[in-house]
Amino acid sequence: MGEAAIKIGRKHKSVFKDKVMEILPNGGNLNACLTCGACASGCPATGLEGMDPRKFLRMAALGMDEEILSTNWVWMCSMCQRCIYVCPMEINIPQLVFHARKSWPREKKPRGIAGSCDQALKNDTCSAMGATEEDFEFVVNDVLEEYREGQPEFAEMTADINREGAYYVLNQNSREPVTEPDEMVPLWKILHLAGADWTYSSKGFAAENYCLFMAEDENWEKIVRIKAKAVDDLGAKVWLNTE
Ligand code: SF4
Ligand code: SF4
Repeated sequence: MGEAAIKIGRKHKSVFKDKVMEILPNGGNLNACLTCGACASGCPATGLEGMDPRKFLRMAALGMDEEILSTNWVWMCSMCQRCIYVCPMEINIPQLVFHARKSWPREKKPRGIAGSCDQALKNDTCSAMGATEEDFEFVVNDVLEEYREGQPEFAEMTADINREGAYYVLNQNSREPVTEPDEMVPLWKILHLAGADWTYSSKGFAAENYCLFMAEDENWEKIVRIKAKAVDDLGAKVWLNTE
């Protein structure tokens, strides 16, 4: 048997097997996984690190905690949830990935994601790129003016910030105002043509939340609460987060 052989049948209690049981719908059992591969076929992370969602689930089901807890693949899952939608059993594999991420010590988690989470926690804007309220307001107003002047059919287009009583509050991924400001405009145009009553909030404007991807419940919640409070403070009815 080669080095890559899978060892099964261990005697110690598996934490992950319990987690798998928790995510099976309607008290199902693992034998109900048809090993059909539908989850793996549409997964953008299939093949990376020699892993795919079906294999990950089977390894968890076999109690292979050591492998599950050490594979870098868990950081390559985008949490897109495609696998859940195509699975005939609706098995929540990203939830299992989330549990695996949680078990990593913080210093071993990917530095890029950790840095983005930390940055967001430092700013009222929740921007992972460190954009301030002033930065955001400046860029939005500057881009809006340019398009209103350059495209007469959108001369009346709006992109308000902190307007109380608007029906929608829209979040914006901070990559756009910081690095690709023109990318904000197509959505402004759609909202304008649809006659939507919307505003940004400068506090908590950033749509991204890397603390979620870090699997840090407390920090993830802290960021969501800042954004939710901003929406409430403006008296909006609907919070639109495009992420
Ligand atoms: S799609 Fe669902 S049933 Fe099919 S292999 Fe993946 S987890 Fe198992
Ligand atoms: S949620 Fe993760 S495992 Fe599921 S399809 Fe997306 S990347 Fe793949």
